[in-house]
Amino acid sequence: MPILTLAMPTPLRRSFDYLPPEAMDDETVAALPAGVRIEAPFGNRKLIGILLATKASTDIDPSKIKRVTKVLDQHPILTDKLLSLSQWAASYYQHPLGDAFANAIPNLLRKGEALIPQTQSHWQLTTEGKGLPEGALKRAAKQAQLLGLLQQQGRLNRVQLDNAAISQATCKALIEKGLIERVEVLAEPYDHQQDCLKSPHLKLNHEQKRAVDTIHANTGFQCYLLEGVTGSGKTEVYLQLIEQCLKRQQQALVLIPEIGLTPQTLSRFNNRFNCPIVTLHSGLTDRERLLAWQHAQSGEAGIILGTRSAVFTATANLGLVIIDEEHDSSFKQQDGFRYSARDIAIKRAADEQCPIVLGSATPSLETLNNALQGRYHHLPLKSRATGASAPAFELLDIRHAPMEDGFSPALISAIGNEIKRGNQVLVFINRRGFSPMLMCHDCGYVAQCQLCDARMTVHFQQRLLRCHHCESQAALPHQCPECNGTQLDFRGSGTERSEQALKRLFPSTDIKRIDRDTTSRKQAMQQLVAEVHKGEPCILVGTQMLAKGHHFPDVTLVAVLDADGGLFSADFRGPEKMGQLLVQVAGRAGREAKAGKVIIQTHQPEHPLITSLVNDSYHHYARAILSERQASGLPPFAHLALLRAEANNLEQAEALLQDLRGWVDHSGCQVFGPLPAPMTRKAGRFRAQLLIRADQRKPLHRTLQQLCSLAEQHPLANKVRWSIDVDPSDM
Ligand code: ADP
Ligand code: ZN
Repeated sequence: MPILTLAMPTPLRRSFDYLPPEAMDDETVAALPAGVRIEAPFGNRKLIGILLATKASTDIDPSKIKRVTKVLDQHPILTDKLLSLSQWAASYYQHPLGDAFANAIPNLLRKGEALIPQTQSHWQLTTEGKGLPEGALKRAAKQAQLLGLLQQQGRLNRVQLDNAAISQATCKALIEKGLIERVEVLAEPYDHQQDCLKSPHLKLNHEQKRAVDTIHANTGFQCYLLEGVTGSGKTEVYLQLIEQCLKRQQQALVLIPEIGLTPQTLSRFNNRFNCPIVTLHSGLTDRERLLAWQHAQSGEAGIILGTRSAVFTATANLGLVIIDEEHDSSFKQQDGFRYSARDIAIKRAADEQCPIVLGSATPSLETLNNALQGRYHHLPLKSRATGASAPAFELLDIRHAPMEDGFSPALISAIGNEIKRGNQVLVFINRRGFSPMLMCHDCGYVAQCQLCDARMTVHFQQRLLRCHHCESQAALPHQCPECNGTQLDFRGSGTERSEQALKRLFPSTDIKRIDRDTTSRKQAMQQLVAEVHKGEPCILVGTQMLAKGHHFPDVTLVAVLDADGGLFSADFRGPEKMGQLLVQVAGRAGREAKAGKVIIQTHQPEHPLITSLVNDSYHHYARAILSERQASGLPPFAHLALLRAEANNLEQAEALLQDLRGWVDHSGCQVFGPLPAPMTRKAGRFRAQLLIRADQRKPLHRTLQQLCSLAEQHPLANKVRWSIDVDPSDM
């Protein structure tokens, strides 16, 4: 009796055995390929699972085993490689298998939508068209050209027509004359070799060329760190690697951190390449996502450009993986399936036997360490590609300075000077809203979130208090709710207050605020960026959104309003993140003809972290904090996992963790906790955590596996929600 083993979309960390459909004969069952979707009863519902394997027997009681109801696909929707990648990821991150698969498959396929093979429009000659004498239609040059092309090449698709500069109108004219017709043909892998370049590539400088040549020389699996200072032309290196990949008839997968960067990157790719490019990110509808996924799966798309979850996109023939800004925290998913897209991409490249390039001006300490240890091939780009010099840093000691809404007099005059010269200025402050704290001057009352251990942020224009952790909000009070006092103080600044201050200080200058609140509308970010690119003098004020990857040629001054926050972070990754952020924001200055300057306001001008960042390079700074990590036995010199628990009260969450801690085998691991989480109460739930540390991965994973199976069976498991975070990036 053949048995089907399925991954089902449930929170359970295991696969499930079923009987095949009644009507199916044994031979057909045995031939079912892994990776097809199958509908099966689960509890009192029907769910769609993925076939992992067929086997001869099961140890499930024959009276209990159920029958699947329907086989949805003839051909697997996931290749063997992607199947095993998802299985690997589920086991590495201790995540339910079915949910890991759900991440890898477009929503519509998860819901059971049929995978209809894609067709593509082509244009070809009709019988009448074929019968035309040579040189016909001489008076309509474009029409004659199209006829000639079709006589030579048979059939042409839209991309090929575009490349020959043949318009829709020309096609239509010939269709109306009955000389050509449009036919729908099954999509086939795009022939990249012919004409993949739309515009010529740039001539690489020495360092870029060395990077491209080194990677080109080796087409098997190898991980490369492309450590290039901001503006060093990493993107040009990517483009030329992709060109070679396309010429090998292979596809390139490119991951970028933010959906906001997709239009910018996409347009650079589109300007260079003829081949179909698909994008996959959270801004797509289910239908658009499925289409893009199919184009990638069929091999039609030469380039797949996407954010985190695109790492699971099915491909026909993958030849190159690129992770741009590999240090970026958005590559780690922070809820549900807590995977690192960068780490999964490396595993994927190894499985596919293709090169992977991790690019960054500020590599993560994990990646840097791998490069220093020789596990990754290290390719540096040390100078800016346009010949621009690196921006000069200036530390501005603001102790005792009379501050005006976060701006010191020296900074105000520096900004004024740049504007007078017709330049653009970027002001960076890593906090949204007007002010992070509302305090009553009479009684000391501070507005707190009712549901979180956090203060409410004042959003002045909206007259709201908003919690940035749970999204709860309240009207901005006119009086203190405790003492009815009217002297309400807004303590500290966010982007909204800085914007207001700048408008007051520079009334005739255009001020643009860029943060999550001003860019939530679709296209808003693109519009703002396009306006900046016009080059008129203006002041941009915004959060880390501004730091990421943007190329603003006319920005000559970058001002960091407050660098001190990152110095006192409780998270051991604080200094790393602060260094990356400062260097990335600084990198927006002076990227082209005009020289750039970076002014950092600080109360800690002698702090060794700040001075090392400003006087040395990120590379030196990173090495210094890397050796501190080594001394304290922290990642990347040890491996960590967090077991998080949340419940309606802290005692329950801690009780579950306490039991688990007592029951698991600690050999080879250290277990710390249960400890209250850094923000113990969030959205009304109480949170605690166990930290597990090990020098080696093996004992860590053994312990985690035990923890998971014990937690699943624990009597408190229906009251306490728990989750595992392997290689946590936020502690
Ligand atoms: P990065 O991604 O490293 O920050 P970019 O790829 O955006 O840098 O390049 C910065 C600028 O340098 C861009 O305007 C780009 O067109 C230009 N550039 C890159 N490579 C070259 C080159 N080899 N010759 C001339 N200009 C280049
Ligand atoms: Zn809250």
